[in-house]
Amino acid sequence: MHPFTYAKAADMREALNAGWRGGRYVAGGTTLVDLMRETVERPDVLVDISSLPLREVVVTGRGGLRIGALVRMAEAAAHPKVRVLYPVISEALELSASAQLRNMATIGGNIMQRTRCTYFRDVTAACNKREPGSGCAALHGYNRSHAILGTSDHCVATHPSDVAVAFAALEATVHVLGPDGERRIAFADFLLRPGSTPNREQALRKGELITAVEIPAHARPLKSGYLKVRDRQSYEFALTSAAVALHVSGGVIREAKVAAGGVGTVPWKLPAVERHLIGERPSDRLWAEAAEHAADGARPLTHNGFKPELLKRTVERQLRTVGGTK
Ligand code: SF4
Repeated sequence: MHPFTYAKAADMREALNAGWRGGRYVAGGTTLVDLMRETVERPDVLVDISSLPLREVVVTGRGGLRIGALVRMAEAAAHPKVRVLYPVISEALELSASAQLRNMATIGGNIMQRTRCTYFRDVTAACNKREPGSGCAALHGYNRSHAILGTSDHCVATHPSDVAVAFAALEATVHVLGPDGERRIAFADFLLRPGSTPNREQALRKGELITAVEIPAHARPLKSGYLKVRDRQSYEFALTSAAVALHVSGGVIREAKVAAGGVGTVPWKLPAVERHLIGERPSDRLWAEAAEHAADGARPLTHNGFKPELLKRTVERQLRTVGGTK
């Protein structure tokens, strides 16, 4: 492991000062410390922010939620307001990782976690994300688990988070604090597609710290849920997943929020699916027709040609589960 110094921030100001000087923030440490052991990450300074007062879940307005960045995954999943208002968030968290990891890892760390691409974690392999300009071993290597949407010639890695898929579907906002004060970043703009700079993964500026993720108050209550398809039923990342939230009244779909995981370089919002649903009456036929749009624009690789069809079926099934059938 690369030698590093460790400092625990007593308050927000200390944390921001240390972050501005180049320190890396750490809280649960469940991703960063692993990567440091493998020398994929080599920070000189770690700034422990686990004591900062960012552990609240607050209801904002009618049906909005603000989840502090240091709320543990397990705490968020079990929180009564999260379970009642947005089961899609609870389910996505509960289907992530082991109970031990969920007890340690935080919401902020979860959305900052790095890809599970095996070449990224193998320091002998070419990887533009780890070593800009070195190439991408996955492009012509074994790429069964890789992305089919949002890829570039420089990187085809998926974003691994489940709860980020729920945040994308619900059009969350990320609150950050930095040397220039507070900022709010739409979730759709927070995680970056690889383009020609896959080493740049988030829209954070130097020294900025995530303070919370906010789910906006929706005018109509949403019924929601998360489906994750994977090679085995536990401790595995998604091959495909679907976060769905719907409001149906008078027999008509008034709101539709849909996003997919396991297929995109970032959590993949599905506006074409949403548009197909709004104003229509729930039916098996509607779910199937809407899901046909889930893989629009997909570019499968050598070993993941099954993903577009699997994605459509995942979305269709979760639409039926959440929306019911008439
Ligand atoms: Fe690296 Fe991305 Fe290629 Fe994986 S897919 S080897 S993370 S550049």
